[in-house]
Amino acid sequence: MEKIKNIALVAHDNRKKDLIAWVEWNYASIIEHKLICTGTTGKMVEQALKKKLEKEDMDFQITKLKSGPLGGDQQLGAMIAEGKVDVIIFLWDPMEPQPHDVDVKALLRIAVLYNIPTACNRATADFLISSSLIGQEYSPVTKDYESYITRDVNLG
Ligand code: PGA
Repeated sequence: MEKIKNIALVAHDNRKKDLIAWVEWNYASIIEHKLICTGTTGKMVEQALKKKLEKEDMDFQITKLKSGPLGGDQQLGAMIAEGKVDVIIFLWDPMEPQPHDVDVKALLRIAVLYNIPTACNRATADFLISSSLIGQEYSPVTKDYESYITRDVNLG
């Protein structure tokens, strides 16, 4: 990972308020990195950051994917598999089922598989963004899946 991280921000509807409050609180640290968001979260993060920065001569980079239920979580999962995401702040809703629950599970699985630092609540997000590693180069230990790729599959 480079010093400038690719940070994914995603929040389910009931948790968007929390994420935006977190973004507003941490905006100075967040804008030093490249942001990737699912659609609706991205619009709200963009608005919040623009408001914070309107009197300051600072810019930020944000990529908005499709809305989560319309494939945004899957796009993010694919980006993880391609090594394009360094950190995820994913405030998923523990109280309500989502139409795209299977995509949520897939995203969390791929994040674990690729050893991506993942925060699912604000406290963990605070620890991540304030870690000294967030502004440093960092090489996460990756598991070797070579034996999985080269395994023999019995075709009967
Ligand atoms: P949204 O998607 O940012 O488009 O609301 C979030 C999600 O449910 O993954």
